Amino acid sequence: MPLSIASLFCKAIMEDTYKDRGARKRLIQELRTKGIVDEKVLTAMLKIPRHFFIQSEFRSHAYQDKAFKIDAGQTISQPYTVAYQTQLLQIEPGDKVLEVGTGSAYQSIILLELGVNLFTIERQEELFKKAHARISKFGYKATCILGDGSKGYIEAAPYDKIIVTAGAPVLPDSLINQLKVGGILIIPIGDSKIQKMHSIVKTSATTFEEITLENFKFVPLIGEQAW
Ligand code: SAM
Repeated sequence: MPLSIASLFCKAIMEDTYKDRGARKRLIQELRTKGIVDEKVLTAMLKIPRHFFIQSEFRSHAYQDKAFKIDAGQTISQPYTVAYQTQLLQIEPGDKVLEVGTGSAYQSIILLELGVNLFTIERQEELFKKAHARISKFGYKATCILGDGSKGYIEAAPYDKIIVTAGAPVLPDSLINQLKVGGILIIPIGDSKIQKMHSIVKTSATTFEEITLENFKFVPLIGEQAW
């Protein structure tokens, strides 16, 4: 990880100020009170400036626990959602992770900060291009793919962990198939209004255990094995 993230960005455009860092500290405290306990996840979120991922008009709100609009009619997930999904993944350094729905790449960079080998797939070309550039700018390496992540990414399967950051109507078979035995898949499943987070552990080549958790509201997962 580079020493100074801020130094990688044009100072005139984006700075990580004392005020930003203070706001980030308060956000991390808020996440703790909401039940996030994984210190590695909280440390990564404390380090990564979320305002770098947000349109300039929302800059002063970047450390509110809220989702915001990004390009292509999509959203950067609420910090609580990022923390919640990442915590559920139980990341170990070196894990091979598939992320479906790169979006702004904020979640991607939190995962990279935790030391994963990341494959991230986005269906919107505009977001894919920006995310790819942003990941490089932060000094990380990931495989960014433009395509339909509801089918997974067979070329690099199987994965230790899979995270889906858009709401699916059902559990896509390909994602389960592309998970290692013992691997974890975190995916919101529901209708277009509300989804429940599902945590799935693959127990053998043909079986898995599934736990249904809290309600969330995501943009839809659009694709062959989705909406
Ligand atoms: N975690 C992201 C972040 O931190 O910015 C937020 C992701 S946003 C809530 C969901 C993303 O999933 C959108 O960028 C959307 O274009 C993408 N998406 C929806 N369906 C997809 C699919 N089938 N394959 C890949 N990406 C998809």
